[in-house]
Amino acid sequence: MTQYIPVTMCHDCGLLQQISHMPEDGAVQCCRCDATLRKRQRVEPAKSIEHTLALVITALVLLIISNVYPIIQVETEGHEIAATLFGCVKYLFSNEMEFLAGLIFLTTIGAPLIQLTGLLYILLPVNFNRMPPYYAPQIYHLVRIITSWSMLEVLMLGILVSVVKLSAMATVVPSIALWTLALLMIFIAAILSDLDTEMLWEKISPRIRAVELEKLKRGTQLTNCHNCHFLCTVSPAHESCCPRCNVTIHFRKPDSLNRCTALLIAASVLYIPANLLPVMVVTSFGKTEGDTIINGVMYLATSGDL
Ligand SMILES: [Zn+2]
Ligand SMILES: [Zn+2]
Repeated sequence: MTQYIPVTMCHDCGLLQQISHMPEDGAVQCCRCDATLRKRQRVEPAKSIEHTLALVITALVLLIISNVYPIIQVETEGHEIAATLFGCVKYLFSNEMEFLAGLIFLTTIGAPLIQLTGLLYILLPVNFNRMPPYYAPQIYHLVRIITSWSMLEVLMLGILVSVVKLSAMATVVPSIALWTLALLMIFIAAILSDLDTEMLWEKISPRIRAVELEKLKRGTQLTNCHNCHFLCTVSPAHESCCPRCNVTIHFRKPDSLNRCTALLIAASVLYIPANLLPVMVVTSFGKTEGDTIINGVMYLATSGDL
């Protein structure tokens, strides 16, 4: 009988190791660098898909409410203005700030919508033990890419700073969409934390099995797929694709230590002006004021509103 071994490669240091058992609580760590190789999920495995599906549906409802209702209402000199998220994008677009409008649309509306509808498309049939939907691995790959573009946390921080700044000039009332956006942020974090990705990959690509022990010859090159973390046998001579999710396998770049050191030094140098120079300049009632990141934090801390 063919023996399948739960072999995995540490994503941090690249050490190949065998996971003999999962501890009842806690996680399996790399024996060389202590990185987490496998983590026991908060939700028991049998209910992981159902639990995540419930979170996804709730998050979609919150996303719809967040886009239909206003985020804040501004009252000044008897006028009342209600600002919705999509209304802000439209305003920026019609005021020749197309790039900014596109960026805000992508990071706060488009990315969460694609992320949640993609997960719903995959999880709904899987939860009811149906066949995985068409192009499920490709769509899940897209969901994983788009997740890094979902930046609701940055939007929330921006809204809080704006509310405090505007409150000096007008009456600002937070509306229902602000609270649903905060809840949406928490629900998306819970989805990312509770979804058992390894189990989902096994369900949407069930025919792909782990590396076979007896087929591993001396000198066989193995690497982890960067997308689904499947351990693949590869040949550096030609381009290889992951058998589970079909993305192209990437090898570590040559001289990776030198490249990382150069990038680290460049980032450290940029860190100083990023904190000392203003990130924006506001002109109000003829008075121009530059705001640094630290100024914004100090303003929030001393304004007394938050
Ligand atoms: Zn390691
Ligand atoms: Zn893969």
